[in-house]
Order: sequence, then structure tokens, then C-alpha cells
Amino acid sequence: TLSDRLADTFKNLRGKGRLSEADIDATAREIRIALLEADVALPVVKEFVGAVKERARSEEVSGALNPAQQIIKIVHEELVTILGGETRRLRYAKTGPTVIMLAGLQGAGKTTLAAKLAHWLKEQDKTPVLVAADLQRPNAVQQLQVNGERVGVPVFAPEPGNGTGNPVDVARASIEEAKRKLYDVVIIDTAGRLGVDETLMQQAADIRDAVQPDEVLFVVDAMIGQDAVVTAQAFLDGVGYDGVVLTKLDGDARGGAALSIRSITGKPVMFASSGEKMTDFDLFHPDRMASRILDMGDMLTLIEQAEKAFDSEQSMKTAEKLATKGGFTLEDFLQQMMQLRKLGSMTKIMGMLPGMGQFRDQLENFDEREIDRIQAIIQSMTPAERDNPKIIDGSRRARIAKGSGRQVSDVNQLVDRFFEARKMMESMAKGGGMPGMPGMPG
Ligand code: GDP
Ligand code: MG
Repeated sequence: TLSDRLADTFKNLRGKGRLSEADIDATAREIRIALLEADVALPVVKEFVGAVKERARSEEVSGALNPAQQIIKIVHEELVTILGGETRRLRYAKTGPTVIMLAGLQGAGKTTLAAKLAHWLKEQDKTPVLVAADLQRPNAVQQLQVNGERVGVPVFAPEPGNGTGNPVDVARASIEEAKRKLYDVVIIDTAGRLGVDETLMQQAADIRDAVQPDEVLFVVDAMIGQDAVVTAQAFLDGVGYDGVVLTKLDGDARGGAALSIRSITGKPVMFASSGEKMTDFDLFHPDRMASRILDMGDMLTLIEQAEKAFDSEQSMKTAEKLATKGGFTLEDFLQQMMQLRKLGSMTKIMGMLPGMGQFRDQLENFDEREIDRIQAIIQSMTPAERDNPKIIDGSRRARIAKGSGRQVSDVNQLVDRFFEARKMMESMAKGGGMPGMPGMPG
């Protein structure tokens, strides 16, 4: 994933201040690959990476995050902004029924979405009606009727008297019907073709002109990747629309289409459809989509938690102490344990760190109460002992064991572990830090 690759990029990076140009360039390369892999259109990738570079240049390297995490945070924030920031809500008509028209290629998921949207509206106390204005495909009307039945929403379909055979007439008649029967939202399902073609565009434009929709929604299959942008642009020119609905997000598409469409058309993605069930439907959430594009939800959670729990002063002190041989004390050891614990369950944290997957078995056996025991033992030591653990001899160990209600062997084990940890940290302070370990200088 991008997080692994960035961690690699920064493996040799230490110190404070700003990232170097070389680091920023290396990062930009990785982000570019990640976005292209997520099917983001090239011009959008270029512009986006440029913006991220700009920001990376001007920002101080944070104390709470290692450089890889910090860049990921910047990228994530920029993605959320470009994806629209806030979720754009449906606009309802001030008087009369709200008219929503769906447009898009055949197979995009319009008919399925029509019913999901109707279901969603019903749950918000609306009284929707579905309109079968796709008279192209033999079974299209029936498909909408079946879906309408599933969600308990009436379907207005052509029959003698309401415009048989002509989708424009059916759409027009449906508005009259809605007024008569007091439906407050009219959802018009239209015909699609396999590719963009003039007749199709013209028909959609005619329906649009006949019913003057409050919202035209362009429905697009997230799985079609780069083609989504071409199609989105063609529909924008041919029919025009107010918002976008992404479908089939339950597939393995990384969702770059959302970013490209939003950037190129300037139209917000409003809804996300993610499965065959009528409830697999939600408002579009830019932050979730950003995580999906980057393919690193866990890393983002970790970053958020690390920032919350991080005490920068504490860690500066630790960093200084580590630089001096023997400067790291049992008190610091305890403080670090407590900081890590603030992040939540130790096991969970370790599982989220890149490269820790291989230790999963050991992690599952990790006993959370171990930290309590360590804490009790250290707290039974005098300040002098905590400061200079070398003085902890046999009789002190016996006293500490008694005071903390543990065995002398437990105290021995802790002291041994402390010296081991100190040795490891001193060599890390010299070496390059451990990526992703909050509370430790990285
Ligand atoms: P339309 O031609 O635009 O009306 O598309 P349909 O609504 O008929 O959908 C085409 C196919 O995609 C159907 O087999 C649907 O069941 C399927 N489909 C629609 N939306 C989704 C979705 O969100 N996830 C999945 N997995 N399949 C979907
Ligand atoms: Mg259809």
C-alpha cells in the first residue's frame, strides 16, 4: 500500500525541520503511483500531486507523526477537500413535487439506484413515485416494477392514456400524476445505451426539458475506471447534471473515478451505491472515499489517535535523553508505556503498524495487564532507583517485590527488559528510528 511505500521512502529520514526536496520528490512519485492505481485521471493526478508538494514544502515536520504519516495526512486532507469536503444534500422543490431525473449509460445501475433512492426517501418520510421512462430495453419497465415492489414504492409506467411508447410523454404525465396523488418526490428512470450516442443524449435532454427536474443525477459505475471521466464529460455536455452517483462500490474499484469526475466536471458526488440490496446505499462521504483511494483506512486511524495522544514536550525530552548514553530512565520507560496505552489497546496498535502483521501471533498473546504489573513495580521504586536503575541490587529488588506484591523474579525480569529496551533505543536513536512508533522519535 501507499503507507508501506512511503514508510520505505522515509526509512533513512531523521531529524526535524522541513522535508528535503529529494524526500518530497520521492514522496510525490509514490503518491502519483497510488493515485494512478486507484484510476484517477492523469491531469487530475498532476494537479493534485503539485498541490501536495506545495504543502509538504511549507509545513514543519510534526512531532507526533513520522514523515510518512505526516505526508499521508496532508494527502488525505487534500483528497477530502477535492472530493467536495462536505456531503452535498438533495435540493427539494419549494412547491409541488421534487423531480429527480437519472441519466447514465446502460448498466450503470440507474434502475437499481432509482429504487434504492426511493427507499431512502421513504425512510425520511417522503412519498416518492418511480417513473419508468426507459422504454428502450424490453424488460426495463418490469425491472423497475419489481424493484418498486421490493421497496413498497409505486411505479408509474406507460399504459394506454399516459403516453405509451414515448418516454418524454410518460415523464411529463408522471408529474401530473404526482400532483394528483400528492407524491412529493418523482424519480425518473431513463434509458441508457452501451456507449455515448446522440440519440440517447437527445432523448435524455428532451425528458429534461419536458419535466424541468430539480436535480439531474448522473449515475456512473465506479468499476469502469478511467472511462468514467469521458462518459461524465459527454453527459455533462449532452444533458447536463447537478450531481453524481457512484455505483458498484462494493466491487474492488478504489474509487479514483470519484476524484476525477469531481475535479473535471466540478459536480459533486452525492450518493454512493454499494451492492444489490436496497439498503446498500448512502450519502457520499468524501472522507471515506479519500481513505479508500489511498487504501489505508487503518493508517489514518492510527494517525488520528497518535496525534490525539501525543505529548510533544514529553517526547522531546525523551529524544534528548536517548541521545545521551544511559539517559533514559525507568520513569521514562513507564511514561512511554502509558502514552502507548493512551492510544488504545496495545494489541490493536501493534496490529496497525506497517510490517507488524508478521508478529500477529505474539500480539494476540500479549497481556494488557502486563502494563499494570510493570507500573506497580516501577511505582514501588524510589526516585533514585527509577533515575539510575543500575543501583537496584538484591536487597532493593526484594523490597520492591514486596511493595508491589510481585515476585523478585518479576522485578528481575522488568529490570532486564528495561536495559534491553534502553540498548535498543540508543541504537535506534543513532540509526534511523522506527517508522510509525508514536511517542518515539522517528
Ligand atoms: P441501468 O441499466 O443503469 O438501469 O442499470 P441496472 O440498475 O439495471 O444495473 C445493472 C446491473 O448492475 C444489474 O445487474 C444490477 O443488479 C447491478 N448493480 C446495480 N447497482 C449495483 C451495485 O451497487 N453493486 C453491485 N454489485 N451491482 C449493482
Ligand atoms: Mg435501467
